[in-house]
Amino acid sequence: MNRLSEFRNFTSQLPRQEQLMPVLFIGHGSPMNGIEDNEFSQRWQRMAAEIPEPKAVVVVSAHWLSRGTRITAMSFPETIHDFGGFPPELFAVQYPAPGDPQLAQDISSLVSSVQVEPDHDWGLDHGTWTIIRHMYPKAHIPVLQLSIDYTKGPRYHYELARELYDLRRKGVLIVGSGNMVHNLRMVSWEMIRGGGYDWTLELNERFKQLISQDEHDPLINYQSLGREAMLAIPTPEHYLPLLYTLGLKGKDEKVSFFNDKAVGGSLTMTSVRIESI
Ligand code: ZN
Repeated sequence: MNRLSEFRNFTSQLPRQEQLMPVLFIGHGSPMNGIEDNEFSQRWQRMAAEIPEPKAVVVVSAHWLSRGTRITAMSFPETIHDFGGFPPELFAVQYPAPGDPQLAQDISSLVSSVQVEPDHDWGLDHGTWTIIRHMYPKAHIPVLQLSIDYTKGPRYHYELARELYDLRRKGVLIVGSGNMVHNLRMVSWEMIRGGGYDWTLELNERFKQLISQDEHDPLINYQSLGREAMLAIPTPEHYLPLLYTLGLKGKDEKVSFFNDKAVGGSLTMTSVRIESI
């Protein structure tokens, strides 16, 4: 099947719309942000009010790694409590947003370079619901997750994201959910409410500078960014969602940052918003 016919197959019921949907990278941090009313969750709530209401949300969460790329395709994804050692209130949270099997199928058709497999086993993990429940508390908007193929390198994820661009024209909000700096082994409990090591703060500035200047290559080849990057990204799963967000950026779009803060010494909540001017 050639590429053109695959695009013809993209027969989503969602009409094309004038306005291009913004794209976000959100630092999710502690699962407790899912139930806390704090500076981060308040910002997520305000963000939802600032952008157009999406027809559906697709999240690339750091917490869904798979062999091959998968998309949740069930009508009612379950709320997954994929963490331990947190209070019962957090385990009690349910986020009953529907799925959208048709959109899942459309996304599989839209991506031509790889097979995106429909998935009926996952659901919404905490990389998704801890954020999205603050943005859309009524759970009235369909939410899907796209998995991260852990067998692939960073460029694969960036390139895959580019194939999803058309979704932005159809009112789909795509969110990368991770943390740019994420080293749990080095967390400082004295700084848990705010504060970063020198290398964290330096790298946070460097990341923002590269993102603002559209210098995506060094961000894709993050291992070339030196010792700070090795400390910040001991494993790639919390960083890779950023590459999906950047891959979805159009030419001349505006970039801004929010929740620009380090916590616990070795984590950043720094988040990115990309939108047309
Ligand atoms: Zn996480």
